[in-house]
Amino acid sequence: MHYISTRGEAPALAFDDVLLTGLARDGGLYVPESWPQFSVADLEAMRAFSYSDLACRIMTPFLGGTIPEEDFAEMVAEAYASFESEDVVPMVDMGDGQWLMELFHGPTLAFKDVALQLLGRLFDHVLQKRGERVTIVGATSGDTGSAAIEACKDREAIDIFMLYPFGRVSEVQQRQMTTVTSTNVHNVAIEGTFDDCQDLVKACFNDLPFRDEVNLSAVNSINWARIMAQIVYYFRAGLMLGAPEKSIGFTVPTGNFGNIYAGYAAHLMGLSVEQFVVASNRNDILFRFFEKNAMEMEMVVPTLSPSMDIQVSSNFERLLFDLLDRDGAKVSHAMTKFRDSGKLTIAETVWEKSRERFDACRIDDVITTEVIDRVYRECGMLIDPHTAVAIEAAQVKRRNPSLEMVSLATAHPAKFPDAVKNATGIMPALPVHLSDLLEREERFTLLSNQLDLLQEFIRSRVNKS
Ligand SMILES: *Cc1c(COP(=O)(O)O)cnc(C)c1O
Repeated sequence: MHYISTRGEAPALAFDDVLLTGLARDGGLYVPESWPQFSVADLEAMRAFSYSDLACRIMTPFLGGTIPEEDFAEMVAEAYASFESEDVVPMVDMGDGQWLMELFHGPTLAFKDVALQLLGRLFDHVLQKRGERVTIVGATSGDTGSAAIEACKDREAIDIFMLYPFGRVSEVQQRQMTTVTSTNVHNVAIEGTFDDCQDLVKACFNDLPFRDEVNLSAVNSINWARIMAQIVYYFRAGLMLGAPEKSIGFTVPTGNFGNIYAGYAAHLMGLSVEQFVVASNRNDILFRFFEKNAMEMEMVVPTLSPSMDIQVSSNFERLLFDLLDRDGAKVSHAMTKFRDSGKLTIAETVWEKSRERFDACRIDDVITTEVIDRVYRECGMLIDPHTAVAIEAAQVKRRNPSLEMVSLATAHPAKFPDAVKNATGIMPALPVHLSDLLEREERFTLLSNQLDLLQEFIRSRVNKS
């Protein structure tokens, strides 16, 4: 199994190299050269598997022999033992053929843990085997930083530096990062905005001597291994609801298109999926694409579901690669034009092909709030704003009333307490493992917004932990 770039110019790589590389050298994203296939008999045999066994079965073909199977099984078991629910991703029956799959039972209460808990272990394994170390530097406006920190803490071959704007993230978000006191975790509060933090990270990556000196790396959402780990729960849901005999639907609250693309990958591997609904908030570039073949960049507006406040969905390029018959030159041409003009143009026939299985729906903050309230009154369940967007989109767009539809619940309600309280009058409680979060000791370093100070700080901490 090798991986090729969506832009066709970068060398094909094996799994371990793709894991550490992230973005391809030609600016493209890595995808498998061919999709592993599971037959009807294979799928039937998987029905009784535990989550970890299913995860190993689905992901092993992607490793192409680069990681010993026993080691991989151990990493998978450890990663999913960190989840609060025995089912890892439990399903809730909402009635009328509507289901909710809860992906937020990991350590930081958002679906990113499903992939990152495994990714941290994979990074460490490959680096230790090579006798290398990396320095991961990232910026966060609050949400993804904690998932990356939890994934990397105590990993011997990794140092992680997470920059966040001082005084501009919520207390829960800040404490989910700063109360992790492992010696390889370095929380850096910057006197500035989130954009300042992002600019500092970019500047570190653009400073090539510095980049080489500390072996900079990232665990961002275009990393193939993150997609790979997310494919598993689509199979899980399908098998629970009658696959392979029955076809089902998925509705996914979408930002960078990584989560829903993993569902599409499951479909290409033999899971029969009749419909995918892309659920967006006011930042609706994907909605405009699927609705009328008009993908045009606009300004990002802040919403109640901030993890979807994105204009350019990087993983969409992986779907585009398929729609354009896996022709890297065509993808490269389309993406260059998109970058230069802010507009993606694809032929009507290609767009129609995308519509065979994909629909999209846009839900604004007013409706999001109404849905949180309605679900609480009708089911007695508190849901977060991202999940609310999906639930509404699933109801509006389900193509056929006999199709079992699974909406993905991507965050725990306690991660977005203000929106939930505002809608229902109830303050969602943190789960037990975080209930003393506000009393725990914090550790962070406050730095002014200056590149040289940051670089000096990183140099002084790397390798000394
Ligand atoms: C990251 C995130 C999303 C968006 O997922 P993508 O893979 O970027 O489409 C949705 N909901 C929550 C809570 C998230 O953290």
